[in-house]
Amino acid sequence: MIKTISTYFNDFVHLFFPHNCEGCGNDVLENDTLLCAECFLKLPETGFIQQPGNPVENIFYGRIKVEAAAGAYYFTKDSLLQHLIVQLKYKGNKDVGLYLGKLLGYELSQSERFNNIDAIIPLPLNKRKEKKRGYNQAAVIADGIAEIWQKPILKNCVERLIFTETQTHKDRISRWQTMENVFAVTDKTSLENKHILLIDDIVTTGATLEACGAKILEVPGTKLSILTVAYTI
Ligand SMILES: [Zn+2]
Repeated sequence: MIKTISTYFNDFVHLFFPHNCEGCGNDVLENDTLLCAECFLKLPETGFIQQPGNPVENIFYGRIKVEAAAGAYYFTKDSLLQHLIVQLKYKGNKDVGLYLGKLLGYELSQSERFNNIDAIIPLPLNKRKEKKRGYNQAAVIADGIAEIWQKPILKNCVERLIFTETQTHKDRISRWQTMENVFAVTDKTSLENKHILLIDDIVTTGATLEACGAKILEVPGTKLSILTVAYTI
């Protein structure tokens, strides 16, 4: 095979800026990917994007009206997915978020269940946390999704108001009471009569997504669907 100038250039770049698999550390030749084929296949897909009545939808059942909900991958301790989420949330690695978002984008573009979404909203972080992290990880995931799945992202329509500490030790009711007024819709007009897809990195109890989703549903004519990268059992 004849090598093109661009291949030579890629080899050259690769030599000085090695691009390794985020999973196993092996050399990955493609510049726009993050995992080698072997590691990619190790990501434990839930199949929930295509599956009505899945466990993520059950989380919200009887709490808020959700058209469709899913978490794309099972989140387990010491797994590759946990490593990726840590990279995204605590190591400033935005590329991981874009990569995961693109994976979701491919899935969404093949799913009829999410066909009638009008716009994407990443779950907002409060300003203090966003400043500290440098970005909102949910917004980075949303950017990755929109690169593949052509839907508009609505930014600055919903805000997160109060700083909340991790609330793992509180029971569901008191957690809900603290969460209830954490989010506020700041631009109702942009949301009116739209089917919104709310995005976050991970769903556990669903309390935060529920609080934000409830505010979105207060806007006349809105519908809500929810999608996260990871789902913890
Ligand atoms: Zn690998």
